Amino acid sequence: MPRLGVIGWPVVHSRSPAMFEAAFAELGMDDWVYQRLPLAPELLEETVRALGASGFVGANVTIPHKQAALALADRASEAAQAIGAANTLSFHPGGAIEAENTDAPGLIAALGRLTGMPAHPSAMVLGAGGSARAAVWGLLDAGAAQVSVWNRTPERACALAGELGAHAVPRPVDADLLVNCTSVGLQRSATEVEALNQLDLSADQVGGYAYVIDLVYRDGPTPLLASARRSGAATVDGLEMLVAQGALSFQRWTGAPAPLVAMRRGAGLEGHARAT
Ligand code: NAP
Repeated sequence: MPRLGVIGWPVVHSRSPAMFEAAFAELGMDDWVYQRLPLAPELLEETVRALGASGFVGANVTIPHKQAALALADRASEAAQAIGAANTLSFHPGGAIEAENTDAPGLIAALGRLTGMPAHPSAMVLGAGGSARAAVWGLLDAGAAQVSVWNRTPERACALAGELGAHAVPRPVDADLLVNCTSVGLQRSATEVEALNQLDLSADQVGGYAYVIDLVYRDGPTPLLASARRSGAATVDGLEMLVAQGALSFQRWTGAPAPLVAMRRGAGLEGHARAT
């Protein structure tokens, strides 16, 4: 029974299991399973090293483990090394762990749903964790004119910007595209104003961005997407990126083309807001 999973802390919110199960059902891969793997940071390395011998072919990696996942891998793609974070691990016979990053191409694919965006947009990236690293690298690789980075902990934004060739800013600045790579919005308890405050943004400032993507996904729009849509911005839901990065991981592990329609349905995208 080939096994796959998603490693995170927390990971209960992840729609990857439903998305992958829909893909397996569509392709008749009845013996494959995909499960949540909640792992506290102190258990990460020891547990991940044991996964290959337990029947795991691969695992996705989410908060807060993407940088640690790269560090523990035996080898990594050039992109994962350049980004400094991995969201896809493959377990090879013999025990070697290989790291890849499908977040960067997944983000660029999701942004492709936006019509009319400049070919070389300026971008304001919020966050300095694993997904922000992928976003900054992916945007620059795709030809963004300039990428600015803001983070709650400014030292992390400075370090990321210095490594990847972006500009750290003390508060969010104007740009064509706003990309939320923080986990703000995941907790449903925060009001819209509170969530925007956590991102050092006011509703007026959000209205200055013509294009907005929030990597966080949940039932209905996140506070940031709700605010952006009210201002008339074109928006992309984080579920679009989830499907795009998951499809690339699926192909890597199974060798089969990803059944995108089934994966979108499994992720809850059909009937859910798309690029608007
Ligand atoms: P991570 O490495 O743990 O980074 C978390 C980031 O969020 C850090 O920059 C952190 O700032 C910031 N943050 C956390 N709580 C905050 C708060 N209350 N106020 C302001 N900033 C806060 O996580 P990650 O892997 O980059 O993932 C970030 C989010 O993106 C998660 O919700 C994840 O589910 C989502 N994501 C979605 C996709 C997708 O396919 N849709 C892909 C990747 C990630 P500090 O540095 O100050 O702690």
